[in-house]
Amino acid sequence: MACSSSQSSPPQRENVFASPWSNSDVILVVENKEIHAHRSILCLQSPVFKAMLCGQFTEAKAEFIPLPEKKHNAMLQFIQLLYPPNMIKAAKVVVSDENILDILKLADEYQAVNVVTQCLNEIQITKSNAVPLLVYANQYDQSLLPKFLDVTSRYISAAKLQEYAAVDLGDEKLTQRLLLSKCNHLESLLVKGNRFGQKLLRRAHPLRTVESGKCGHVVSATNFHKARFCSSCLEIYRTEFLTYAVTSRGVLSTQAQAELEGKYFNYLEQVDDIVMSLCPAASTVNEAGTGTP
Ligand SMILES: [Zn+2]
Repeated sequence: MACSSSQSSPPQRENVFASPWSNSDVILVVENKEIHAHRSILCLQSPVFKAMLCGQFTEAKAEFIPLPEKKHNAMLQFIQLLYPPNMIKAAKVVVSDENILDILKLADEYQAVNVVTQCLNEIQITKSNAVPLLVYANQYDQSLLPKFLDVTSRYISAAKLQEYAAVDLGDEKLTQRLLLSKCNHLESLLVKGNRFGQKLLRRAHPLRTVESGKCGHVVSATNFHKARFCSSCLEIYRTEFLTYAVTSRGVLSTQAQAELEGKYFNYLEQVDDIVMSLCPAASTVNEAGTGTP
């Protein structure tokens, strides 16, 4: 073994990059603080570092590389993410809402694709980070895009999406995909709601039909699409089926009722998410409590 043990085992203090370690051969200077790193790793992960440190520029030979206008903390976390985690166990970067956008901005600037995809894979997608992260997923790894589109179309109102589309997205194709994904989500909710209503009616009125004396049509609980075009049928539909269906819990078995309610609440939750994203003030009023149950 040529290497001494002090060189081969990774340092375990929290910021290993603050001073020389394991033959580090370049010092980035950010906000007057030093980040000691290895040219080979920086160049391997970033074509921008490669041009800067291993190319014809003056920095290629310089030991100290000043990086003005950068934030030390974000740069340090970005550099840490360029290293294999088993080299710097004590300095593992936890990607969170607090640091991800700063890291991604640097990773984008330095074209460090691996860092971008790692961040996008590790972060928990929420309604507050979905849109800004969507832009990176779109640019760096399209396979991650559906996850971000899913959260966006569930939890972000169409009006907000329109605002984002104008300011933040800057990509017409992505905007179209985002809006289409929102449409698909809303459409699927409508279909679910319609199926739920049909099921409720079928349970409340199994196979019952009523013949209209006025028009001669036969009306059943599930043929609203036909009944709605005839005023006489519509009247029968309303009085015979609709009114009764909502007060007919007694006709269902306990199991059927539980199943129906389970689906109904699931549906209500999804619709409620959309309503709350449209008018968040409503949820604040409810949470504050008005004294009424
Ligand atoms: Zn009719």
